[in-house]
Amino acid sequence: MNRKRLSFLRVGMLAGCALVMAPFHAQGGQQSPGMGIPDNGAVVGDTSALAREAQNWLVDLLKIDTTNPPGNEQAAAKYIAEILTKEGVIAELLEVAPGRSAVVARLRSSAVADPSRALLLVAHMDVVGVDKSKWTVDPFGGVIKDGYLYGRGSLDDKSMLVANLAAFIAIKRGNVHINRDVIFLATTDEEQFGDASLRTLIAKYWDKFAAGYALNEGGRVMMKNGKVQYIGVQVAEKVSVNIAVTATGKAGHASRPTKDNAVVHLAAAVEKIGNYQAPVHLTSIVRRYFEGLAGVEDDETAKWLRVIDTPDRGEHAQRVLADMNPGWNSMMRDTIAPTMLQAGVRVNVIPSEAKAMLNVRLLPGDTIDLLMNDLNKLVNDPQVKLQIVPDGGLAAPNSSMENEFYSLITRVSAKEYGGAPVLPYMSTGATDSAQLRLHNVQAYGLMPFAITEEDESHVHGDDERLPLASFAKGVDLITRIAAEFSVTR
Ligand SMILES: [Zn+2]
Repeated sequence: MNRKRLSFLRVGMLAGCALVMAPFHAQGGQQSPGMGIPDNGAVVGDTSALAREAQNWLVDLLKIDTTNPPGNEQAAAKYIAEILTKEGVIAELLEVAPGRSAVVARLRSSAVADPSRALLLVAHMDVVGVDKSKWTVDPFGGVIKDGYLYGRGSLDDKSMLVANLAAFIAIKRGNVHINRDVIFLATTDEEQFGDASLRTLIAKYWDKFAAGYALNEGGRVMMKNGKVQYIGVQVAEKVSVNIAVTATGKAGHASRPTKDNAVVHLAAAVEKIGNYQAPVHLTSIVRRYFEGLAGVEDDETAKWLRVIDTPDRGEHAQRVLADMNPGWNSMMRDTIAPTMLQAGVRVNVIPSEAKAMLNVRLLPGDTIDLLMNDLNKLVNDPQVKLQIVPDGGLAAPNSSMENEFYSLITRVSAKEYGGAPVLPYMSTGATDSAQLRLHNVQAYGLMPFAITEEDESHVHGDDERLPLASFAKGVDLITRIAAEFSVTR
């Protein structure tokens, strides 16, 4: 073990710590004589060398193609397990499906695990597909160009994955007492939420990573005009449900059209639904988010944000803000996006059936049945039927904004980013945190690297890239949060 590395983590008051027995030291070895009480009492020292190591891991992981489907996360899992093994940590591969394994590792705080106290650092290994012809570099080449690290997964979610890994390893190397178990978990099949997703992992292996608290993706550190505007900590997310719209009519020869053409009825229904806006419903999280945003947005935007909830100007403000930003619109209401159309087999045949798919994103707390009622009334066509597709997302409770972990995340994030406001955030998309919240985990979403809206727009798109100038700070943030929460002072 390289003693120099121990400077990643410093701890005070070790001699007086009676909470944890020596065999369950995170390190499992002897206290380093160089690990004195730092003057400033900080738990974590300089993490810049650690971030350089983590950047190399990230480049390597970007070169391992984990496009889902099929995922093939096995190679990434083995790579991560090897890093952990070198650090003297037992890394276990949890097979979820053939060729698809999660990786789990644990730093123990005591002989008897207390899952309700444990901290889970979780990230997914799989990535969405690429259209190679639209990329300016090899999406699986780990290419560094003009200050960016390019690659599918460079933002979603391999960068968070290596930040978690770095934080976990820092605590291990720190040779310190921890007051809760720290668990590292790299998951499979997040992007498809299929048979190898966290849902299956929980069903098969929950005891291996059961925890009371989790750090996952889903938040953001927004950069605007060269500085950090705010840090969003995800505490809730919208729920994805699909609706199938089926129009039926009489099949026939296209040379003799009739009024009951299924294609025409479907098109009319889709147009009505596409133009429909569900009523605004400001949840407490979104209210707090908009309030905070008002403090950092330009004057014009802030003016509307401040009156969004007032009886006289609220409605107008909601309209202006919804038009200004589709993300804000989606935070205010249930949304419905028609996404797929299917009809016909021949150009000269009127089909008897035409189908559309709608992707609905419900606010947490709203029910699909109420929305279905409204949509049925709106469509009002006996030839058109709406059906909820089973196995949609499940509504999960929000994570608390009152517990010690949330306040620690807030405090450490603000400090890391020069006092920028830290706001609770509701994702309009889905993450694995919903599954965790359904299992009583207080899960919080970060994306610890400062990025611009332009950077963010490449996630799931072409030329996904991480600004390298933001990398070390992101690693530092996750390391500090994990260490401050778990290391005994
Ligand atoms: Zn992701």
